[in-house]
Amino acid sequence: MALLDHITSWEGKRTYIFRGREILTDKGGDAADAGAVASLDNCILQCCEDTAWQSVGILLQADTAAPAGYEFTPVPAYFFAHDDAENARAARMKSLAQWLADNRYCPFCGQPLQLHATEAALACPSCGRLHFPRVEPCIITLISRGDEILLLRNIKDRAGIYACLAGFVEVGETLEQALRREVREETALEVENIRYAGSQGWPFPDQLMVGFYADYKSGELCIQESEIADARWFRRDSLPPLPKPGSIAWRLINGRFAQ
Ligand SMILES: [Zn+2]
Repeated sequence: MALLDHITSWEGKRTYIFRGREILTDKGGDAADAGAVASLDNCILQCCEDTAWQSVGILLQADTAAPAGYEFTPVPAYFFAHDDAENARAARMKSLAQWLADNRYCPFCGQPLQLHATEAALACPSCGRLHFPRVEPCIITLISRGDEILLLRNIKDRAGIYACLAGFVEVGETLEQALRREVREETALEVENIRYAGSQGWPFPDQLMVGFYADYKSGELCIQESEIADARWFRRDSLPPLPKPGSIAWRLINGRFAQ
């Protein structure tokens, strides 16, 4: 597959236009089509086309106003309202456009990078190295103890939402090791019977959320106060406010993964 920095034709292509963490949508809540681009000409930071995905990604300057008939919607809210295939396309185009905007020069020799002819990659014409988009894996897990599940409220949360435990995978770790370490760090608990559930791209900026179920094994709940405001065992018939549909946490809690 190839990336292009110029658009040869808009026909049959889906367009995704971003301003920071927001996506430009029409009044129906769908991604703005190519018709919105004409009036944004002077506000475009980055534009790329992904030939394999038949999609165009555009990054706008931070102060860009929405054209008449369109509005900016937070990307997570967009995810909540659309299906997996659509969300994967939107996430890919956001990450690719941001990656291109952030990687203009070769980190080895400092020369300007060029789009590779056939790969979704940047090539250095001077030293020949190829640079691929970054993906940062994170684990997210729902822990069960009998008929209770463990949910946590992050210190950054202002809406009273309880979600699943999550954290970044460190270099050299397996996903299972990362999961056990994060659970231990944030709750002082030990888990067992780790089962893969599903995954989701989360383009803030380049995360791949890898979801698991796990069972409580041992330990007394003791939260890491630098990251967690509260953590409790909840029965399924008395759950607190939860993350919205479209998030992988909602799917873990509700058991909604396409196989
Ligand atoms: Zn180079």
